[in-house]
Amino acid sequence: MSRILITGGAGFIGSHLCDRLLKEGHEVICMDNYFTGRRKNIEHNLHDTYFEFVRHDVIQPYMAEVDEIYNLACPASPVHYQYNPIKTVKTSVMGAINMLGLAKRVKAKILQASTSEVYGDPSIHPQVEEYWGNVNPIGIRSCYDEGKRCAETLFMDYHRQNEVKIKIIRIFNTYGPRMNPNDGRVVSNFIVQALKGEDITIFGDGTQTRSFQYIDDLVEGMVRMMNTPDHVIGPVNIGNPNEFTMLELATKVIDLVGSSSKLIFSDLPADDPKQRQPDIRKADKLLDHWRPKIQLEDGLKKTIQYFENELKSAK
Ligand code: NAD
Ligand code: UDP
Repeated sequence: MSRILITGGAGFIGSHLCDRLLKEGHEVICMDNYFTGRRKNIEHNLHDTYFEFVRHDVIQPYMAEVDEIYNLACPASPVHYQYNPIKTVKTSVMGAINMLGLAKRVKAKILQASTSEVYGDPSIHPQVEEYWGNVNPIGIRSCYDEGKRCAETLFMDYHRQNEVKIKIIRIFNTYGPRMNPNDGRVVSNFIVQALKGEDITIFGDGTQTRSFQYIDDLVEGMVRMMNTPDHVIGPVNIGNPNEFTMLELATKVIDLVGSSSKLIFSDLPADDPKQRQPDIRKADKLLDHWRPKIQLEDGLKKTIQYFENELKSAK
């Protein structure tokens, strides 16, 4: 049994990770400032003696005796990370410094939830970990992309300079239950719009692609990565290589919901990547043949069910 700190633990991914680690018998400290996370996501664990919630902002130093740290604190949806871009940079960069400092002091292993956004609008397809990316350093997505890139730099430098035991994963678009209905990302937007019979908002012409991974596959990959031997540091892509256009996603969601929603088109936001697909050969090799098991249609069905309940309880 380990004592594990999860920053951003009340968010979409973090709350699933809390559940998984508690189930394995670990003690979990969930730190979150509730910027995009919700009490609702972790409520079922609040009375568990092995679970502790700490309301704290990761840009402030934090001290705890822990064996492992999963660093997830950071808004992930463009709508939320662009709301206060300076804060987003601080969260990624100062958050990484604070958590790496903690890992160094208490000799904990630390995993960084990095992102496919470090590849920017990629010219190499599918994206391999060796690709350095094509990121605009001064655009509206830069606060997130460059913040995450700088966090990777800090992880590597704490490893080289201070021998901190690090793990870096690059997460590709992930969806599933506990996404906030107002999250603003494409899967949650389309499902909520289809369920309400509202227009489906396609940005651009809808031919841009993403590869969508269901939450359970990601959590499995994260835990396997944390449990690798110390010399395995990454970065390792964790995502589902099945790639779809946003038009295909919209059609699938409309079909599965049985909705009468129509598609409407608006301008593509600046620097929106045209294509994205993970090369997962490294994860397969390093993480004991990890590969995603849940395909889009099955994952969407579970997620639609969740949003149906969310919308009912909000009435
Ligand atoms: P989320 O917004 O649901 O979760 C982020 C959590 O971090 C929230 O609970 C939020 O309140 C918390 N947080 C934000 N700023 C904080 C701060 N300063 N101090 C403490 N807590 C703070 O998003 P998510 O999808 O669960 O993403 C979790 C992590 O995974 C993020 O770091 C994100 O960049 C990364 N990631 C997610 C995806 C994806 O598709 N979901 C893809 C790539 C990377
Ligand atoms: N998108 C869209 N309609 C929406 C929300 C997003 O067409 O209501 C598009 C967006 O422009 C992008 C893709 O869907 O091309 C994925 O967007 P998301 O914000 O989910 O993630 P990211 O761009 O960070 O991969």
